[in-house]
Amino acid sequence: MRKFKTESQRVLDLMINSIYTNKEIFLRELLSNSSDAIDKLYYKSLTDNISGLTRNDFYINIDIDKENKTIKIIDNGIGMTEKELSENLGTIAKSGSFDFKADDKLKDEDINIIGQFGVGFYSAFMVAKKVEVISKAYGEEQAYKWSSCGAEGYDITPCEKEGNGSEITLYLKEDDGGENYSTYLEEYTIRRLVKKYSDYIRYPIKMAVTKFKPSEEGKDGESYIEIETLNSMTPIWKKKKSEQSKEELNEFYKANFFDGNDPVKTINMSVEGAVDFKALLFIPETAPYNYYTKNYEKGLKLYTNGVMIMEKCADLLPDYFSFVKGVVDSEITLNISRETIQQTRQIKAIAQSVEKKIKSELNDFLKNDRELYEKFFKSLGFNSNSAFIKTLV
Ligand code: ADP
Repeated sequence: MRKFKTESQRVLDLMINSIYTNKEIFLRELLSNSSDAIDKLYYKSLTDNISGLTRNDFYINIDIDKENKTIKIIDNGIGMTEKELSENLGTIAKSGSFDFKADDKLKDEDINIIGQFGVGFYSAFMVAKKVEVISKAYGEEQAYKWSSCGAEGYDITPCEKEGNGSEITLYLKEDDGGENYSTYLEEYTIRRLVKKYSDYIRYPIKMAVTKFKPSEEGKDGESYIEIETLNSMTPIWKKKKSEQSKEELNEFYKANFFDGNDPVKTINMSVEGAVDFKALLFIPETAPYNYYTKNYEKGLKLYTNGVMIMEKCADLLPDYFSFVKGVVDSEITLNISRETIQQTRQIKAIAQSVEKKIKSELNDFLKNDRELYEKFFKSLGFNSNSAFIKTLV
């Protein structure tokens, strides 16, 4: 048995004891991990010129087993080696940001911070008494199984698995007075949650669903199983503005940018010109909790041709708009590596146009809803002398 790091143990305890009320988000967290793992492999296949991997080969499967009360989430992404299983799942990813002292009790602020971060893989323990991850890293021969009941630590053992990717099995907790975990074994619950939180994931999320063929003359109706893709796969920023619902935008923002509150403003951009791109930007209601620390990283999520290539592209945002969150999707050429992307002219062109747009939107905001604007402005801790307001008025 290997032990969890102290800070991970605390977050885990929090999950196990379920102080966090919105338990259903575990599915979103696991599906977005799977999608990231596929992005990583797809990106690698493009940059390393690996043949035989095409976009259409990638998928995520959700497998429900009512009898054994398990849910499996299966992807054929990049997978994890033994070392990665231990490092990635044995430690909370952003542990540096959790400044827990050994004898501290978890306080409300900590819970808040965790909420803002997105709870990640450990959220599985909100609904599961035991979690198993079988994973085989791309290009490796040996697969490994990570398993844990949360409390003590985890085990890693070699195992068999065909093909690369990960298979996460959640052994659901027993229903108790307050909580009905078996709802996650129902097709309609899973369908609803995928639609609500993960509809825009760009790989198919498939599930075997039961359909019913109505009776015809002389025959009884019968049920049959069909594999269905549950998500629409259209990224929300590619939808027309009229097709984006406010709820969907808010959920997308909260799920991707680790904020518990709805954004105060959403900005859509669809630019054709020297560089074509789409962007979906959000102005948070309050400053990100670590905004004034050196840990805060500005930047927009950068996609090219539908693949996420950078989580936070700092060069897309000027410093004085570092509180802005969002996504940029462009068709810029893909022979750029993550390191050199900063220098490209295209990025500069996008950044200029993004900056101009944010400025004009904030100016409108100021003109049209001064009260709300001032509230937001104060929450960011700006004062009227800041360079930021001077550029506006
Ligand atoms: P985050 O996704 O925010 O980094 P998580 O706690 O959700 O944090 O996951 C920790 C890490 O474990 C991920 O960064 C990733 O490297 C790895 N991981 C999780 N799920 C998978 C998966 N399905 N396939 C490959 N790697 C994964």
